[in-house]
Amino acid sequence: MNLLRRINKIRDWDKFTLKRYGDFLDRISKYNVVTCDMFRWVEDEVVITIRHDIDRDLHRAIAMKELELSKGIHSSWFVLHSASYYQMTPARIYLYLQVGGEVGFHNDLQRVKNPESFLISELYRLRSTGLEIIGTSAHGPGHNRDFWKTHDLEGFGLEYEIDTLEFNKYYADHHFIDNHRWHPDMMPKPQPGDRIQILIHPQWWHD
Ligand SMILES: [Zn+2]
Repeated sequence: MNLLRRINKIRDWDKFTLKRYGDFLDRISKYNVVTCDMFRWVEDEVVITIRHDIDRDLHRAIAMKELELSKGIHSSWFVLHSASYYQMTPARIYLYLQVGGEVGFHNDLQRVKNPESFLISELYRLRSTGLEIIGTSAHGPGHNRDFWKTHDLEGFGLEYEIDTLEFNKYYADHHFIDNHRWHPDMMPKPQPGDRIQILIHPQWWHD
């Protein structure tokens, strides 16, 4: 990260609070906000989906989930199999994320020796706890997307890869605009016909 971004990160610290995230949820609640799964099927003047890639901070994800539930917002939570929280997390935590929402598989398969068998066994294990995983998103800018160039989603009981959803606007809190991390406050007012995907990483947010 360059120096200006580091400085702005400190300056912008106060913007990335759960309170501000809650204010954002209030602003978009008048639109049709659905899980990534439902985003494939719902048609409306404006349709918004919030995708959370849980790269590190599961505790923050739970706090965000509580906030969303309190406001009646339903979103998708992609759990990362290479994250430190992944193996030690009890199933009930992921099942909580699924309440009124959706849990997906955050793919970091480039780190795995036998990705096919790993994916089959992990999806089986997760689904046997009651999770209904049909979506996947790729972690990082590396080669994780490439896995789907040579494999069919269907073969793993999956239905969509997040990049293939049809949206005309995409915002993500790991993007930088003028060296400031993108924040939902920067989102222009949705226009009729908009299908908007918003990527939120819980680890960038705090109390
Ligand atoms: Zn990620």
